Order: sequence, then C-alpha cells, then structure tokens
Amino acid sequence: METVCVFCKIIQGEIPCATLLDTPEVLAFLDISPVRPGHALVIPKEHAATVFDLSPTSATAVFAAIQRVGKGVMQTTGATGLNVLQNNFAASGQMVPHVHWHLIPRVEGDGLELWKQGSYAGMEEMQVLAKRIAEQCKIA
Ligand code: AMP
Repeated sequence: METVCVFCKIIQGEIPCATLLDTPEVLAFLDISPVRPGHALVIPKEHAATVFDLSPTSATAVFAAIQRVGKGVMQTTGATGLNVLQNNFAASGQMVPHVHWHLIPRVEGDGLELWKQGSYAGMEEMQVLAKRIAEQCKIA
C-alpha cells in the first residue's frame, strides 16, 4: 500500500531530508521551514499520529534523541537556549499527523514570542479545574 504520510516517506527515503541523527527507532532532521536556522525535528520511525498513539519504547528512544540532537543543535548554532515543542491535532497547529518534536535554538533577546500567557481569577478556580483534570488522569 502506498504511504501517504510525508514523514514516513522521509523515513523510507522517498523524500530527501537533511539528516541529523538516524537510529533504528528515531530520525532527526532539519525543519524545511525553520523558525531559526538549526530548527530540528525529532520523529519516531513508528508511525503514530499524536503523542497519545506513541508506544512507550518509541517514546523512550525519542527522548534520548531529543537530548542528543538538542545538545548538537545548541553547540553548533551557538544557542544559549532551546525550545522543545510538540503539537497534537490540528487545533494545536499540528500540520503533519506523524508525531514529532520541534527543537528550536534560542538566544537572549531574539524576539521570538511563542505564546501569550493569561491568568485565573484565583486559587479556587485553579483548584476546581485541577480536581476535574486529576479525576480524568485517573481513568485516562
Ligand atoms: P507541525 O505544525 O507541528 O505539524 O510541524 C510540521 C513541521 O514539519 C513544519 O515546521 C514543517 O516546516 C515541517 N516539514 C514539513 N515537510 C517537511 C519536509 N519535507 N522536510 C522537513 N520539514 C518538513
């Protein structure tokens, strides 16, 4: 059956990429449309659409790769910070439905604003919401 997933095509060598790390479980390569030069993607070779679909084995391998590639990106670009970001489902901004982690090198004062933070009315509102989420965590 023909593969339609763009990242599976990269893994299979059908689409070229600028490879950073290639292990039996994980591939890392430069994002074709970088937020900053050195912006890397770390993906599991197992096809999983979101973080919820990823096997524990792949998850472990991915995090080891994030540490290796993250250090390499920082050292090579001279970055003094690194954002590790990951989107799930279209509403979060996920464009490629093959789970992946963005590694974005940062320097002080680079002007990149990733999100705008808000506030709660108070601790009571936080506790009510936290309790509801905690209940779901027990059954999830
Ligand atoms: P997301 O919005 O989290 O799904 O991010 C998907 C990322 O994949 C984007 O930053 C794209 O620039 C990147 N991307 C898509 N196609 C390719 C490709 N062929 N090679 C490298 N990066 C890609």
